[in-house]
Amino acid sequence: MSSILPRWPVMEQYLTIQGEGANSGRPAYFIRLAGCDVGCVWCDVKESWPSSGFPQKSSSELCAEVLQSGAKNVVITGGEPSMYNLDDLCSTLKSAGLLVWIETSGSHPFSGSWDWICVSPKKFKAPLKDWLSKANELKAVIYHPSDLLWAQSFLPDLPQNCSLYVQPEWDRRQKIFPDILRFIHANPQWRLSLQTHKYLGIP
Ligand code: SF4
Repeated sequence: MSSILPRWPVMEQYLTIQGEGANSGRPAYFIRLAGCDVGCVWCDVKESWPSSGFPQKSSSELCAEVLQSGAKNVVITGGEPSMYNLDDLCSTLKSAGLLVWIETSGSHPFSGSWDWICVSPKKFKAPLKDWLSKANELKAVIYHPSDLLWAQSFLPDLPQNCSLYVQPEWDRRQKIFPDILRFIHANPQWRLSLQTHKYLGIP
């Protein structure tokens, strides 16, 4: 992937709330970049996997649209946004006074300058230590009980003050929830993350 991407493939963009994790409930403007090579079997945005066929927008075009919405926080998500070098997008948004957050699997080289980094590691393509070492939040999606052990395997690579979340995979939430509850009781440094936007039926 080129390190200079003057125009971004934008699958969707919208003002909503952050529905999950540490910033849950806070208003945010989501920019979903198209393109993902991670291939999670349970992915709920498989239409974001190809990077072609979407509008291509410059950083300043996107920034103007965020400012027009009145949002103060921007979430860069995907797809897998770390596939791209995000320096230009971050610096444009930040120089307009916006707070810039990312949701990433951390599977491609680190780039950008972030006010909040949420690493959501995926079993299908491991996160890089560069992302883990800068993470403000680790959010592990739990599909199978063994994923709880896997989530703990990242602890040595995380900053000490990193917020730790386990989140049931949406389609397995009823089945996996008792395991997650037992885990949180035994490991209270971990917290539960729920996809509140899905319960509310908002994007
Ligand atoms: S990293 Fe995200 S977009 Fe890519 S396959 Fe996994 S859940 Fe889907």
